[in-house]
Amino acid sequence: AKKWTLAKAFEGTPKPSDFKLVEEPISFNLKPGEILVEALYLTVDPYMRGAAVEPGQTMIGEQVARVKVSNNPAYPEGTLVLSNLGWRSLTVVPKPEEASRFGPLVRKLPDFGDLPASLAIGCLGMPGLTAYFGLLDRGRVKAGDTVLVSGAAGAVGSVVGQIAKIKGCKVIGSAGSKEKCDWLKEIGFDHVFNYKETSVDDALKKFAPDGIDLYFDNVGGDYTYAVLQNHIKFAGRVVVCGAISQYNDVEKKERSTYGFIIYKQLDILGLIVVAYKDRFPEGVTQLLQWVKEGKIKYKETITKGFERMPEAFIDLFKGGNIGKAIVKAA
Ligand code: NDP
Repeated sequence: AKKWTLAKAFEGTPKPSDFKLVEEPISFNLKPGEILVEALYLTVDPYMRGAAVEPGQTMIGEQVARVKVSNNPAYPEGTLVLSNLGWRSLTVVPKPEEASRFGPLVRKLPDFGDLPASLAIGCLGMPGLTAYFGLLDRGRVKAGDTVLVSGAAGAVGSVVGQIAKIKGCKVIGSAGSKEKCDWLKEIGFDHVFNYKETSVDDALKKFAPDGIDLYFDNVGGDYTYAVLQNHIKFAGRVVVCGAISQYNDVEKKERSTYGFIIYKQLDILGLIVVAYKDRFPEGVTQLLQWVKEGKIKYKETITKGFERMPEAFIDLFKGGNIGKAIVKAA
């Protein structure tokens, strides 16, 4: 079996030498209750940059896996599961029901019909649920809202924009390449801009002259400063989902947004998707229905090979992915 450990605490942007590939023996002789699972798809997510993993520990994260050997009648061989086992290729799980960050350590995949199982770590998994609860519950989105989504072509942002369209909003999104912006137009965003070429101010003067009601923020930093300074309406809502522009910013050059939050009396809505874990089944059911109806479209950027986990992860911070970044194990 193989696993990726953290070799060295991250400093600035993660680099290949921060990770170590470790081989370990694994026994196929299972005790009663145990299962051995093989990773099929592993997720790489921005939160892993800030996760509390110490050097020497295995990188954390979810994987879609298949039960390869079973000594537990509840999980027969071949069962597809979603599990929170980290960056591991093969894992013996002594107690599949054990609690973990997102619920039980190993959960059987819901029936997605003809859709790929990898969606369980994408638009029908944690990122999709982040969009769903963040927009509907935290953001209290309503018809007629002008919604701005930063990081719009990513796993979370692309679902946010599409749910906002379903709810009758005007939706503006930004992303870092023409290809990404073209895709966002294709899936129904009303206005898109490449934030590397057009300033937030220029774009929003044009696309939202009356201001933004709800800002779903994935990037933070100077982008967000401009939105709060010049474009969010008074008493506007800001769902603070992420701040990827700041995760590697060791010099802390970004400006503080607190002045605007106070002056404009904004509703700043901190979001943590795991706070909704008891409602995940409800979210997955609704997202699945929307995907089946074609109201939510998705893209995956698939890196092939367990050995390439660090590369896929590092790519997140270079904008290498459209839609959900995943690694296909073998
Ligand atoms: P994405 O699929 O959006 O991948 C990351 C993307 O971020 C890149 O493709 C890139 O797109 C963009 N990006 C990278 N560096 C920068 C930068 N310096 N400035 C602006 N954009 C940048 O990731 P996710 O959808 O999984 O996550 C999106 C955000 O949501 C992250 O901030 C993440 O931490 C947060 N999150 C929060 C959760 C919560 O519970 N609050 C749960 C899940 C995610 P581009 O080419 O457009 O620059």
